[in-house]
Amino acid sequence: MQKQKLITLLVAVLVVGCMPTSNSPSSATKADPEIEELISKMTVEEKVGQMAQVTLDVISKGPNEFSSDEPLSLDPAIVKKALVDYKVGSILNTGNNRARTPEKWFEIISELQRVAMEETNLGIPIIYGVDAIHGVTYTAGATFFPQEIAQAASWNPEIARRGAEICAYETRASCIPWNFSPVLDIGRDPRFPRIWETFGEDVLLAKTMGVQMIKGYEGEDNNIADPEKLASCLKHYLGYSVPKSGKDRTPAYIPEIELRERHLPTFKAAVEAGAHTLMVNSGLINGIPVHANKNLLITLLREELGFEGVIVTDWADIENLHKRDKVAATQKEAVKMAINAGIDMSMIPYNFKFCDYLVELVNEGEVPMSRIDDAVRRILVLKKKLNLWEKPVTNYKDYPKFGSEEFEQDARNAANEVITLLKNEDGTLPLKKGSKILVAGPNSNSMRTLNGGWTYSWQGEKVEEFASEYKTILEAIQEKAGKANVTHVEGVSYDFEGKYWDEKDINIGAAVKAAAKADYIVLCLGENTYTEKPGDLHELGISQNQIDLALALAKTKKPVILVLNEGRPRLIREIEPHLEGVLHSYLPGNFGGEAIANVLFGDVNPSGKLPYTYPMYSNTLVTYDHKPSEEQAKMDGMYDYESDFAVQYPFGFGLSYTTFEYSDLKINKETFTASEEIELSVTVKNTGKMDGKEVVQLYVSDMYASITPDMKRLRGFEKIDLKAGESKTVTFKITAEDLAFVAADLSTTVEKGEFEAAIGELKQKFSVSETKKFNTIKSVL
Ligand code: BGC
Repeated sequence: MQKQKLITLLVAVLVVGCMPTSNSPSSATKADPEIEELISKMTVEEKVGQMAQVTLDVISKGPNEFSSDEPLSLDPAIVKKALVDYKVGSILNTGNNRARTPEKWFEIISELQRVAMEETNLGIPIIYGVDAIHGVTYTAGATFFPQEIAQAASWNPEIARRGAEICAYETRASCIPWNFSPVLDIGRDPRFPRIWETFGEDVLLAKTMGVQMIKGYEGEDNNIADPEKLASCLKHYLGYSVPKSGKDRTPAYIPEIELRERHLPTFKAAVEAGAHTLMVNSGLINGIPVHANKNLLITLLREELGFEGVIVTDWADIENLHKRDKVAATQKEAVKMAINAGIDMSMIPYNFKFCDYLVELVNEGEVPMSRIDDAVRRILVLKKKLNLWEKPVTNYKDYPKFGSEEFEQDARNAANEVITLLKNEDGTLPLKKGSKILVAGPNSNSMRTLNGGWTYSWQGEKVEEFASEYKTILEAIQEKAGKANVTHVEGVSYDFEGKYWDEKDINIGAAVKAAAKADYIVLCLGENTYTEKPGDLHELGISQNQIDLALALAKTKKPVILVLNEGRPRLIREIEPHLEGVLHSYLPGNFGGEAIANVLFGDVNPSGKLPYTYPMYSNTLVTYDHKPSEEQAKMDGMYDYESDFAVQYPFGFGLSYTTFEYSDLKINKETFTASEEIELSVTVKNTGKMDGKEVVQLYVSDMYASITPDMKRLRGFEKIDLKAGESKTVTFKITAEDLAFVAADLSTTVEKGEFEAAIGELKQKFSVSETKKFNTIKSVL
């Protein structure tokens, strides 16, 4: 990191030495004479074209820009219109919202590059982008890892890194060099439909996983010319995940202190990790759409964080400034607003009007040429860094490991590590082999629900068609327990053809009847798949049909083990007391069925821990790092307020089939200056009979501060492997800056005073001897 900063500084110094002095945040990227030469030759139309991105359906044969004919093929006349007439520089997405073979991708993208490079004056290659969120969404045969929220539940950063490495390789095998991932939004509101795309509610966990994902995509040295790496895209900058209503793309109201404390750190860390591109939050903060917010895009992102990469809009979000958010009276005004606010590329994505308007605006002097050059420079630098002039297409034939057993084994191991055991009354689990099992519930026999959205299609509705070779929960249980021992009655089923939340009681009575012959009931509940707005909810509770099924089965007095297969924590308060076991699988991907069965039968000792607080009530949606006043009953002691703090399961929680004992918490000193290192160590012993993995979590509470401190904050974690009987000592090294908070003047501050560290049940007090501000901040909201 330091080295990288030094190089950037040297380049900046050199550039400033030989070019007109400029305060433009882009000055460091002007260092490339070839790019400068190219820009000097470009017409306004050519520049504007580079800033435009359209979706594949627009240029494919078919009835309109929203759909294509099958088999998919390019429409040469429209391709010419897009790439030659409008000089469009980027294409995204798939045709007809459907996965394609690597061969098909090669055919399509080769032709696009041929036209862009041979039939235009300047021969600039296009840059193709897709959402490859947990594997290459739109490529048949790709390897699918657990979704981000599930990866976070592993608390193992190596999983995020390996998943991204494989994803980068397979995306390049599909000829695509740009991935709209990772999501660095913080998943702090369980109502939000994109929680499953995040690494959960904690800043440190999300930051750590996110940085590893970027390294997996871009490589340790961010050398994206490497044909096995790609450009990552940080999204959705900034504050996207906390709309007031909980619904996607609705207004958020975020005080700057909160924005900086919770939402900015992941992006800051990702910029420092060298990520090449960033996508803007499709929503609005404090009434201002982020796509029109110069303070957030220029002052904060470019000037304060020093981000030099490409800023791309989200889907149709310039149009939305006019159409949806009404801050621009016309489409043309919307284009002016967004580009002047700092947008480099518009994901238009259905027409070419953006290009017409922007050319006019430049010619009228409404958008300065310097702003256009700045945007184009960043885009061309990105294309050059990706080596697109030399190697505009990568060929699937050079990627023999695509969908290989080696990659699948890594995805399988990842799935095994995410499963989180939340309840295991009287050691009901692991299930005894040879026992009779009833498998029930709408998620019991679906590859679709195991994967979630962004899998073979946007909403995940085509998963069964592409993933038949993998095992559903039912199939994996049948394989372990023997088909003869397993009965399957769904009881309740999703109406996969209908609306997202439609489901029907197809036969709760039959499920109850089948339970009579079973020793155990494995009840698979949760959610159907959804992505973005279609996932908005009226109710956070798990659906009534599923509750009815669970209660009816519980009445049989047979032990019920609930397998939760969902992208966010749906309330289970009414059924939980009647269950013997609860196992959370999130969206574990194509190997989720196997992983669930492995844990159910004890072939894998569960080691996942919740990456979010599992709420109990819809009016008590608190994160673990809440303020003391959110637990007043506990504080007063004498009262028992009806609706005080209560959660179903806490953040960081997860059981194991073995037991771990924590001892010997040590600290290197009792009082620290703001620049000294704090070293805490603890010994963890596996005191049970089974080998297991444990996530050692360090929390620190600031006892008193000028901004009411959070009850506690995660300040370190490490996942360790312990054989039965084995002990290990884990050491955390942190600094006072790691304990700092965003103060009233927005600076990152540590205040003199007392702190308490906690690891497991062990606690250790220490103090910091001085107050220190680590930065001076210019307000942006
Ligand atoms: C989503 C983004 C995604 C983009 C391109 C948008 O609707 O919000 O996350 O990257 O579409 O598919």
